[in-house]
Amino acid sequence: MKRRHQRSALALLTAAGTLGIAAPAVAVPAATGTVVTGGTPLNARSGPSATSPRTGAVPNGSAVSIVCRLAGQFISGTVTNTGYWDRLADGSYVSDAYIRRGPGDIPKCPSATRMPAVTGSWMLPVTAGLVSGFRTRQRPTHDGVDLGATRNTAIRSASAGTVIRVVCNVSRGTCDVDGSSSLTGCGWYVEVQHAANVVTRYCHMVRRPSVTVGQTVARGTILGYVGTSGASSGPHLHFEVHVGVPATRANAISPIPFLQARGLTIR
Ligand SMILES: [Zn+2]
Repeated sequence: MKRRHQRSALALLTAAGTLGIAAPAVAVPAATGTVVTGGTPLNARSGPSATSPRTGAVPNGSAVSIVCRLAGQFISGTVTNTGYWDRLADGSYVSDAYIRRGPGDIPKCPSATRMPAVTGSWMLPVTAGLVSGFRTRQRPTHDGVDLGATRNTAIRSASAGTVIRVVCNVSRGTCDVDGSSSLTGCGWYVEVQHAANVVTRYCHMVRRPSVTVGQTVARGTILGYVGTSGASSGPHLHFEVHVGVPATRANAISPIPFLQARGLTIR
């Protein structure tokens, strides 16, 4: 656990940027506490486990506002030994084993905020059902899958990589408004280049994406939020997988078997 706290300055900078993004839901703190690690920063994670993607770090001695808590990985810390993880106002989790706080109950977090499934170095970008498939008979030019996530759901990078495109793509008007099926274009979208020249594309975001071109992202880094900008008739995530750089229609592959081969099932 301790060794994981030590990261490069660049990683911390990236993490701080991620932490700075406000979660869409308004979070009211239930308790406050103080981080006690004995020195190194305490890792903040996207879920209640030391294996969840790291989203930032909180310095030793910092005050934290705790919104709710979830049972997760058991941790032996400097303050106590516990399986509880505290959710902070930005939606990240820290182990309660490193938090000194007064007595009193912290409410259990609602389960609707759970992280998308993760296996190995890949994860689902959102937790949502399939609403339209890849190059179906009805939509032979649909080069991705549509996942029926609600507006403002966080969209997470499906794997580690580098952001290679952040674009507003719409046939007329802007991407900062709801689109329609009379438009063309992906709206606000992001492409991330991963190992082996795999590129993932995330379309129709609700507003300007949360990342910039050239930024290194981890699996699970929030890229932006679900919307319906561009050629879209309602909020959802249009997700594409390409094998080749740049991503083109010719190198698009179906995300479903690609993710299935990595142990991830879109339902
Ligand atoms: Zn689509």
